[in-house]
Amino acid sequence: VLKYSPFVVSFRKHYPWVQLSGHAGNFQAGEDGRILKRFCQCEQRSLEQLMKDPLRPFVPAYYGVVQRDGQTFNQMEDLLADFEGPSIMDCKMGSRTYLEEELVKARERPRPRKDMYEKMVAVDPGAPTPEEHAQGAVTKPRYMQWRETMSSTSTLGFRIEGIKKADGTCNTNFKKTQALEQVTQVLEDFVDGDCGILRKYVARLEELRDALENSPFFKTHEVVGSSLLFVHDHTGLAKVWMIDFGKTVALPDHQTLSHRLPWAEGNREDGYLWGLDNMIRLLQGLARS
Ligand code: ATP
Ligand code: MG
Ligand code: MG
Repeated sequence: VLKYSPFVVSFRKHYPWVQLSGHAGNFQAGEDGRILKRFCQCEQRSLEQLMKDPLRPFVPAYYGVVQRDGQTFNQMEDLLADFEGPSIMDCKMGSRTYLEEELVKARERPRPRKDMYEKMVAVDPGAPTPEEHAQGAVTKPRYMQWRETMSSTSTLGFRIEGIKKADGTCNTNFKKTQALEQVTQVLEDFVDGDCGILRKYVARLEELRDALENSPFFKTHEVVGSSLLFVHDHTGLAKVWMIDFGKTVALPDHQTLSHRLPWAEGNREDGYLWGLDNMIRLLQGLARS
């Protein structure tokens, strides 16, 4: 379900704010051109450090912690503020969307989970093993790992979470969008085949890749569940930012990641750059065709 947030951003101009993933109610309007996201320590730490990193131009500006109605929020730049009736896409990056520590925790007491069995069957009735069918339940680590194989997360290193187009159409049901041809089609439709927009996205993503490869922050963090937010509008403005640092965690001292090597449990590789390479290649192909 797409969340049209209950708030309308005010001051410079009025527009309905759009949230493509996460829990409705996690966001509120902030001051002019800013939004509030439910506080998360991990995200606060990341955003603070990112303000002093080469990645700064590619993340929402961070304005610190604020209290409202007894709740705590991180205040950040509203990336939609400069657009007129934008089209928006959220792509979750990486070849894995749970942290290694989450997998370890999930394994400690692998209780059979009926809710996860049901979610699994709803997507693919053939996915559970005969034993799992008999139990009517699956364990959480099993569910977490299975889910990644459904989407393009494991095959391309990114998956589309949601799209809202300027014409009002929206889709957040890409759980089974996995094949390269399917993903390509969705991306082409998102830009309505506009090569000018595609070229701007490609140029921006290439700049992002350079910044990532030179970022001390990125080298020393496992970046999981973070998205690229694509935004363009009819004026031809097209930009991309990194968002969602709720599962971006520092590595132990002196450890670094390539972000391109395959994941093997323990190496903490997240496949972020591998996914970005694939995304850039795909969009370049579309821009040429
Ligand atoms: P999840 O972990 O399930 O992805 P979340 O609660 O961590 O959700 P985010 O992923 O950070 O939330 O954001 C959810 C959506 O809100 C994004 O897909 C995007 O549509 C919108 N959004 C988030 N941050 C911004 C921002 N700075 N400017 C504009 N829109 C934003
Ligand atoms: Mg997110
Ligand atoms: Mg999140």
